[in-house]
Formats: sequence, C-alpha cells, structure tokens
Amino acid sequence: MNITQSEKLYAQALDFMPGGVNSPVRACRSVGRTPLFIDRAEGSKIYDVDGNEFIDYICSWGPNILGHKQPDVVKAVTSACQNGLTFGACHSGEIELAELIRKNMPSIEMLRLVNSGTEAVMSAIRAARGFTKRDKIVKFEGCYHGHSDGLLVKGGSGLLTNSIPNSAGVPKGYTDTTLLAKYNDEESVQQLFDNCGDEIACVIVEPCAANMGVVPPKKGFLKFLREITEKHGSLLIFDEVITGFRLSLGGAQKLYGVKPDLTTLGKIVGGGMPLAVYGGRKEIMECVAPLGSVYQAGTLSGNPVAVSAGIATLKILEKNKDSIYPELERKSAKIENAMKNAGLNVNRVGSIMTAFFTDKKVVDYDTATTADTKRYAEYYNHLLENGIYAAPSQFEAMFVSFAHTDDDIEKTCQVIESFK
Ligand SMILES: *Cc1c(COP(=O)(O)O)cnc(C)c1O
Repeated sequence: MNITQSEKLYAQALDFMPGGVNSPVRACRSVGRTPLFIDRAEGSKIYDVDGNEFIDYICSWGPNILGHKQPDVVKAVTSACQNGLTFGACHSGEIELAELIRKNMPSIEMLRLVNSGTEAVMSAIRAARGFTKRDKIVKFEGCYHGHSDGLLVKGGSGLLTNSIPNSAGVPKGYTDTTLLAKYNDEESVQQLFDNCGDEIACVIVEPCAANMGVVPPKKGFLKFLREITEKHGSLLIFDEVITGFRLSLGGAQKLYGVKPDLTTLGKIVGGGMPLAVYGGRKEIMECVAPLGSVYQAGTLSGNPVAVSAGIATLKILEKNKDSIYPELERKSAKIENAMKNAGLNVNRVGSIMTAFFTDKKVVDYDTATTADTKRYAEYYNHLLENGIYAAPSQFEAMFVSFAHTDDDIEKTCQVIESFK
C-alpha cells in the first residue's frame, strides 16, 4: 500500500499539533502505523490522499449511521449555509430538532443543544448536582464520557477510596467527588450507596458500553441502577452519545426498557456536524439558567448548520426505521459470524461490535484489558492492508452503517475470515 502523501503530511502535522493529531486515537500509536490523511469519503467508502480506497467501519466514530455524505443531509446543510452560518440567536430549527428528539426519546422532556459530547455530559452532571444539591457522582471503570476534568479518573487503592486523576493537569480536588464502580457489577454500586448514598447526585453510565470495546449490560444491570438511584434520591444519567439513534431510534433506553432521568446525545444527533444534547425530566432541566441557577451557555450552541444536519439525519432514520435498523442488524450479524468463524471473541449489540483478543468473556474493564493489544494490531493491519478501515485500537467499536452494501459486507467477511 502506497502511503507516501500521508507520510509527508504527517511529518508536517507533527510540527503543528501534539502527535500530529487533534484527537489522540487518530495517531494510530497502538497499532504502530502512520495515520492516513483522508481526502474524501462517500457512502461506505473512505479515500486517503494517496488514492487508497477503504470500506469504512469507523464512520467518524459513530455519527455516520447513514454513511458518508448522505445526499439529503448534504442538501440540508448546503441550504442552511445559504441563510447564514451562525446567528447566536433563536431559530425554528432548534424546535424542530428538539421535537424529533423528544418524540423518539420521551424521557427527554426538555433539552439543551450543545457542541460536543464532552460538553453535554459535563452540563448534565452540573444539572444533576444542582437539582439534587449533592456533589458526588458515580461512574464506571472503562466507560468514557468525554474529557472534562471530573471524569478523567482511575481507581484509588480500593473501591471505596476516592478516585484519582488519570490525566496530568487534573487537580486532585476535581476527582475527589467521582466514585468509581465496576460495569455490570451490582455489588460495587451497592457498596458505594451503602457508604454514602445520600451524597450521590447521580450515576452516569453508558447503557451499552462502547468505549472499552463493546460491552453490553448484563440482564437486570440497568434496572438495578434505576432502582438504587431512585431509592436514594440520586439521578440516573444515560450517556447515549454512541447508542442514541443507533441501537434503536429510541436509543439504548428503548432497547433495554429503562428510563433515565437525564440523557446525553452526540455523534448521530449532529449528523456529522459538531452538535450534542443533554436533556431529561422537565423539573431537572428547569434548574438550568435562565430558569434556574445552574449555569450553562454556548456561543455556537444550536448552530443552524449543525442543527440542519441533525434534523435531516433524524428524519431519515425516523422515516425508514423499519428498514434501516433491521438491515443494520442483518449486516452486522454477518460480520459477527465471520469473526466467530475466524475464532474471534466478539461482543455485539446491533450495529456496534468489538472482537476482543482474549479468551475471557468480556463483561467489564478488567476483562476487556486482558486483551492482547499486539495481536489486535496484527488484526488491524491485516484489515487495513486488505481495504478495511477499522478502529486503530482494541478498545473501540466497529460501526456498521446503512450505506454498507452487501458486497461490502461480503468482502469484509472474507478479509476477516482470512486472518491468521
Ligand atoms: C464520544 C463520546 C463522548 C464524547 O463526545 P465528544 O463529542 O467527543 O466530546 C462522550 N460519551 C460517550 C459515550 C462517547 O462515546
């Protein structure tokens, strides 16, 4: 594979940006490769600057559920641009998008549009703390909720000790109020609530974890979280930045039948533009300024161009939900099957999946991190050399889109099955 132009650009980029990238995983360090510089993308395909063509299973890390450059989405965005790129003021698109979201996720009675998943989660947690007048939060090891200070934590010496920052630049005090529990481990949550349940503002969780690789919730786990938070007057936040509009039109909360107090959305909801959402029960959202005393604002929040992409995407998903979601399931199941034929250990929920290079059943962070990342790098390289663009890290999901054709899927299955 010729990657001369990418190598040239990467050498230049290294001089301007840390690691040559604007988000660390793109540097491809864990698979030991030069990042490819992308020229363009269309449908299921992505093309680098050297003219190599790949079937794309990163899909911009989730947003492109309809594939790249979906014509109706591009048309909506182009047309929105004609009216101005940003107003910093109210416009009717905000209402239209909010309506589409609430209709499909009724737990979101009231919401705010923001610019990134990080911002959505940070704001949702602030609202939860403001509403409950409590400081502590519970998060799960291996779940990712963006890069705000209080969420960049790792465990202390024991579960009941306070967590410590896992990034330099985060003051110890910022993570003192973040308690860590184990995904799929009810006992670890129970212990935290036994210890200080009346100080816990909220539990935040990826209802199907997808940032330590895909790790589905075990049966009853989300219901348990619903019950224990309710019992202690804490809020339950579902971070559906990946799962929202992906696992079903109503997200993971619809799929698993558990209703959170607050939800965060990103990725798909912006249709490929920088847009995210936090929202939930009306009485909680009414704590947000100017109605209440929880401050949150944004110059570009509700940006008309981003909103137009979100509306167009959600409209397509809504109109075609009876074909899109079953198709995603059918195609994804084929890939899962090919992985199993190749002897891989795969976790899949709908159109997200991860092949883990471990013999252990992956149910949480501890089991996920038993994976052999060197072996994953070999797998990644095998895929890439054969025209399949997958995540350059063991601990990410493979995303299937509606644009993937049966030919794409067939080719992908062949490449996976030929991995030795
Ligand atoms: C991607 C992601 C985020 C962060 O979103 P950004 O837009 O990258 O800030 C938060 N939570 C989850 C579950 C995510 O997958």
